[in-house]
Amino acid sequence: MGIDKPAVRFVIHLSLPRSLEEYYQEAGRAGSDGNTSHCILMFRFEDRNKLIQLIYKSTSEDHMQFQTHSLNKVVSYCMSSICRRKLILEYFDDGFDVNCNGSCDNCLTTPPLPKDYTMETINTCLCLEEMLAVNAKINVKQLALIFKGSKSKRDIEAKGFHLIPHYGFGKNAFKNDADSIKFVQHLIINEVLMENICAVDNIFTTTFITLGKKANLVRNREIQIFLRL
Ligand SMILES: [Zn+2]
Repeated sequence: MGIDKPAVRFVIHLSLPRSLEEYYQEAGRAGSDGNTSHCILMFRFEDRNKLIQLIYKSTSEDHMQFQTHSLNKVVSYCMSSICRRKLILEYFDDGFDVNCNGSCDNCLTTPPLPKDYTMETINTCLCLEEMLAVNAKINVKQLALIFKGSKSKRDIEAKGFHLIPHYGFGKNAFKNDADSIKFVQHLIINEVLMENICAVDNIFTTTFITLGKKANLVRNREIQIFLRL
């Protein structure tokens, strides 16, 4: 964005930036004259897939991991219910107690309290392993709905997922199906689960999940998972 004007009133992202550094630089174009300006970032979790697809074309494993980690920070920022200003300042180590005085979307509502989801995370990992033994390609929605014990999907019984030991293990942990899906998405950006991209005919892509690099850390109780859903 080669814009050098002081009176930019809106910066609107229709697609996800690849890193918080990129977002901060672009959003920072708004309001250089000191007047009120607006930064809007359109987000849905599935947008991450397009960027992951590009990252997976990277030649070096280190570069791929670095880029995935940077992208996960952006997605985490989008999904967070904490003050946006606080999140950005924390990321750049630039003061921890500054809030935005009610100018970000999260500060206009009361955020949910953080809750310890460590046990649910451990059980979700077990649920995923059991599902993978039945079918090699599991997506976010399937894992979320099976862990919650949802009966809303016809293919659950057709594939026999209702027979695995951890089917319905998380049924009391989430208010609804949307929350259980959000929970699995959080586990992906926290790198407990990993979303892999599978190209079909080099045109269409589907995603499937496996355990991520932090799965064993949670299972060995070396880290805990606190989330605000
Ligand atoms: Zn705020």
